[in-house]
Amino acid sequence: MNNLELAQIRCPYCAETTEVHVDIECDTGDLVEDCSVCCRPILLHVEYDESGTAIVSATTESD
Ligand SMILES: [Zn+2]
Repeated sequence: MNNLELAQIRCPYCAETTEVHVDIECDTGDLVEDCSVCCRPILLHVEYDESGTAIVSATTESD
């Protein structure tokens, strides 16, 4: 059973599209993931719709 969901986000620092894995069981609310392109910390806000699909929004830490 794989509870990891791949979410595509756009880095708020370098504007590159990058993919992050979110753990559906554990990751709810806010977490920080380093951008794979520019290595700066992206603040991710994770929500789930009624079908359980992760909706990830990415912002800078200072927002
Ligand atoms: Zn970046």
